[in-house]
Amino acid sequence: MYRISDSEWEVMRVIWTKGQTRSSEIIATLADKFSWSDSTIKTLLGRLVDKGLVSSQREGKAFIYQARVSEKQSYRDEIEMIFNRICVTEHRSLIDYLVSKMPMTLSDIEQLEALLLLKKENAVERVICDCIPGQCRCVRHGEVKHG
Ligand SMILES: [Zn+2]
Repeated sequence: MYRISDSEWEVMRVIWTKGQTRSSEIIATLADKFSWSDSTIKTLLGRLVDKGLVSSQREGKAFIYQARVSEKQSYRDEIEMIFNRICVTEHRSLIDYLVSKMPMTLSDIEQLEALLLLKKENAVERVICDCIPGQCRCVRHGEVKHG
């Protein structure tokens, strides 16, 4: 799986939103937010095509760009990449933090409650990480805590 850079991500968001789009449309969309030149955006598009994240199809003089990866899956991949860097025993407190600062409707909260009720049926006794010893402070099953 390819890492998507911050700039490439901005371009991907336009492509995901528009479905099929030309570079001129992407340039126009991003012009308000960034002072990127046309050639910068074309370079970013070229990289996304090389990475297999976007397809390009010639139509007359222009190219039509289309995403080859789903938006939802890409969100999940990005989040998982971050969480994979952090000991699994820290994940819940990070979720607490995210939930506490996230704007949520009553319906959002009710959906989260329903998810937690389901989660309750598969609760584990302990969350055990698989970090390399020395990279986290966890005490693993059967290990004696030092210090
Ligand atoms: Zn750990």
